[in-house]
Amino acid sequence: MAEFDVDLFVIGGGSGGVRAARIAANYGAKVMVAEEYRMGGTCVIRGCVPKKLFVIGSHVHQEIEDAAGFGWSIGQVSFDWATLVANKDKEIARLEGAYTTNVEKSGARIVKTRAVLEDAHTVRLATGEKVTAKYILIATGGAPNHGPAVPGIEHVISSNEAFHLKELPKRIVIQGGGYIALEFAGIFAGYGSDVTVVYRGDNILRGFDEDVRKHVRTEMEKRGITIITGCTVAKIDKHGRDFTTHLSSGSSIASDQVMFAIGRHPNVRGLGLEAAGVAINPANGGIQVDGWSKTSVDNIYAVGDVTHRTNLTPVAIREGHAFADTVFGKRPVQVDHATIPTAVFSQPEVGTVGLTEEEARAQYSHVDIYKTDFRPIKATMSGRDTRVLMKLVVDGTSDRVLGCHIVGDCAAEVTQVVAIAVKMKVTKADFDATVALHPTASEELVTMRTPTAQHVRQAAE
Ligand code: FAD
Ligand code: NDP
Repeated sequence: MAEFDVDLFVIGGGSGGVRAARIAANYGAKVMVAEEYRMGGTCVIRGCVPKKLFVIGSHVHQEIEDAAGFGWSIGQVSFDWATLVANKDKEIARLEGAYTTNVEKSGARIVKTRAVLEDAHTVRLATGEKVTAKYILIATGGAPNHGPAVPGIEHVISSNEAFHLKELPKRIVIQGGGYIALEFAGIFAGYGSDVTVVYRGDNILRGFDEDVRKHVRTEMEKRGITIITGCTVAKIDKHGRDFTTHLSSGSSIASDQVMFAIGRHPNVRGLGLEAAGVAINPANGGIQVDGWSKTSVDNIYAVGDVTHRTNLTPVAIREGHAFADTVFGKRPVQVDHATIPTAVFSQPEVGTVGLTEEEARAQYSHVDIYKTDFRPIKATMSGRDTRVLMKLVVDGTSDRVLGCHIVGDCAAEVTQVVAIAVKMKVTKADFDATVALHPTASEELVTMRTPTAQHVRQAAE
């Protein structure tokens, strides 16, 4: 009789768990995956995919406005939120089915239930059933922070609920200045809501390049989004179907919805981590792992958002794949977490890879900046008041391109490709040697010849 019921038990059927389960099963392992909600996890069910669908739809209004300058006259238009939500739900259900089928095709077995650790080799299902496993992978993802318990917090929605609102809010207050707050600000504004973003710091997108932060804020404000900085939501009052949001500054805002997008926390509670001896990383509250995604217990691994390293889908997938290669494929692989490209699907979009100017200046003695902001060709005829930002951060000593930052249409698409070059450690001279592709916005990346700033750090006395 086998020592364990399965070779691998995966807790969580999201991006990381699904990839690990499929690859391990392909290597011949006997695999079981527990998912307590819906197969596909956050990205597919209430993250990247439905968000991107909402973003795509919300651009249409602007396209219609821009069309006039190109000769189009488009009559009365109308938008139906319920149709958008229903069609999005249909697509998400299709993807959920595809995820389920792909896992099953690989030979792994799915159990639709919550699973927790009983000890280092035993998982207990909500049904009471116990399964023993040689290896356990924790891939339970994360969940929205609800934030400080201000009065009226029970009225606040998170991104989870924003995907299922019965009606498009006429007015919405969104607290937060990161990915989700700005993406949903653009979504709601695009469909016609009056949007106010409330952010506690001095400017949105902390951690991004300073020029990007300023540019995005200016452009979002041009599109009619109100951004209030330097304060927080102190209290929410409900009157009938309306809300009054009181800010720490003393002012208040009326709206139909209040949303918080103030970060996410790893799903570690009630998982039985103590019983199995799995340690938490005190620095971030996620499961502590080494470079192989191994936890403090030899046969238990953790990947994705539950480790709170870089909370992005492609990273969770890569970590899950590397785990399966290492443990079941006899092909040891560590994930390189350096130079991960990322995009904020705000409007306009942000694409970024590598170091910000501030990071580069802290790490390198000589830093050259190549920066341009310009009116995109479409705006010349649409008449829209908008500008694109492109910025390269270059090591002045080696000429290596350390970072690329773009704000504007297609920033995410362009950044994915530029990321290959940055990862390959190409030089500014390599960019310059590449012939421009005209007329595009991204040709600016290979035609910026003169640095707009050169920073030299003085040697310490
Ligand atoms: P998840 O995908 O969260 O999967 C974890 C799964 O585990 C869930 O299905 C959960 O139900 C299940 N689970 C939890 N506990 C248990 C248990 N005890 N038993 C059984 N099942 C359990 N990333 C990008 O790269 N690009 C984007 O554009 C992007 N947009 C996003 C938009 C939003 C609104 C949000 C919230 C996130 C977005 N992300 C994006 C982040 C991305 O969704 C996550 O990084 C990714 O889903 C993490 O994958 P994971 O496998 O770690 O966890
Ligand atoms: P972020 O970390 O991006 O942003 C959180 C925001 O909330 C920050 O502006 C933060 O301020 C603010 N905040 C945090 N705590 C409080 C508080 N107590 N009161 C008021 N404001 C607060 O988190 P999100 O929730 O937007 O998204 C979670 C993660 O999901 C992202 O970090 C990203 O990894 C992933 N994601 C990726 C996307 C993509 O790839 N396009 C899209 C959506 C999510 P401060 O900066 O001052 O700390």
